[in-house]
Amino acid sequence: MSIWEYFYTMHLTQACECVSAGPSLVGVVRKDWASDNSIALSWTEVEQQPNDILDYEIKYYAKEQEQSGYSSTRTKALSVVVTGLKPSTVYVFHVRARTAAGFTAYSNKLDFSTGDSGVAADQGQVLVVVTAAVGGFSLLVILTLFFLITGRCQSFIKAKRKSDDKRRDRFQNVLPVPGIKTYVDPDEDPTQAVHQFTTEIDPSRIRIERVIGAGELGEVCSGRLRTPGEKDIPVAIKTLKGGYAERQRRDFLREASIMGQFDHPNIVRLEGVVTKSTPVMIVVEYMENGSLDSFLRHHDGHFTVVQLVGMLHGVASGMTYLSDMGYVHRDLSARNVLVDEGLVCKVSDFSPSRVLEDHPEPAFNTMGGKIPIRWTAPEAITYRKFSSASDVWSYGIVMWEVMSYGERPYWEMSNQDVILSIEEGYRLPVPMGCPVALYYRRSCL
Ligand code: AMP
Repeated sequence: MSIWEYFYTMHLTQACECVSAGPSLVGVVRKDWASDNSIALSWTEVEQQPNDILDYEIKYYAKEQEQSGYSSTRTKALSVVVTGLKPSTVYVFHVRARTAAGFTAYSNKLDFSTGDSGVAADQGQVLVVVTAAVGGFSLLVILTLFFLITGRCQSFIKAKRKSDDKRRDRFQNVLPVPGIKTYVDPDEDPTQAVHQFTTEIDPSRIRIERVIGAGELGEVCSGRLRTPGEKDIPVAIKTLKGGYAERQRRDFLREASIMGQFDHPNIVRLEGVVTKSTPVMIVVEYMENGSLDSFLRHHDGHFTVVQLVGMLHGVASGMTYLSDMGYVHRDLSARNVLVDEGLVCKVSDFSPSRVLEDHPEPAFNTMGGKIPIRWTAPEAITYRKFSSASDVWSYGIVMWEVMSYGERPYWEMSNQDVILSIEEGYRLPVPMGCPVALYYRRSCL
């Protein structure tokens, strides 16, 4: 390890204290909530905040054990959840900002205790992501915002003209909007659904080029699809690995039978399937920039707010279409949105079996299934009440992921802590740089 790495990892905090300069750029620090092992803090920005704040450092120690040292953590947001604390213990916290010129002075020291139940008192002040307050009206609120911001007034006015009944229907899933094609559940007749909603492709038309990802039941590859008389088009090819059981084959093709029913610029398009030879394949349009979460993480800070809102607008359009068709996604997250070369975002991943079985974000819920807790609405976690309204909750989390460039929602909090905190009224804080228009105080809803 070089002296600089040593300096950076072991003595950054102490060393920077010596060179910290200027007034504290941290306003009032307050406790949002506390559980036995965690304390959530947030703070305000000072007036005339310089715009070169890189992140904030939070230093803390148990008050009774100051001599045994302290811990610190960093965040880019105006809030933090400090985890791994001891129950019923008073901790001392102070926060400082880091700019390109180094650390600024610390805020005042504040004592907060774990394990008390002072959450409710602060609820009214806790900021919430617009859509994380579940309710059928939320999607319209979001769309209103996006349409206003992106100048899409025409479709906004059109949407506004829809009657209250239609609006209500959109969120109940069982009554899709009249006049719009209705989603058919392939489980009613899986074989018929594949015939009806997908096109069989001759495998000789497919050229597989390279592996780009690991799917649930096989590899995902990029390649080309040849259509006689037309130019080859780039495609992604999902393959079903050999030795599959009949149930796996059915589950694999189920996604194609669902995707094949959709036709929208913000839903990943199905080109066709290969079912008459092996390997069984699903061929979809190729999305050059891959999944939205990793794309944003690789391009942290690279986009304007208008570009980020444009991405979210795409996801909202796709989700509006799905709810109009009476389809509930159940697993909307930035990792399940794909981005093309023009930054158009499209909703993907229509493999609902995974929601219950082999999900990358699994957690047992009270009824024995597995669901992606951080993205899932409370009523869906507790009662499995999935609906377009619960998709709206997930959309709120996606908004937060996008505005924070792929940050993990609720950071390193455990799933159990997330469930309890949400129940107690905690909501994801405003991401750094997120305009107020995208973020509401609870009292506004
Ligand atoms: P999935 O099984 O759909 O979750 O896909 C696994 C991974 O493959 C994704 O996270 C993407 O990185 C990649 N992938 C899936 N579909 C596409 C596509 N249509 N275009 C480009 N990359 C894709």
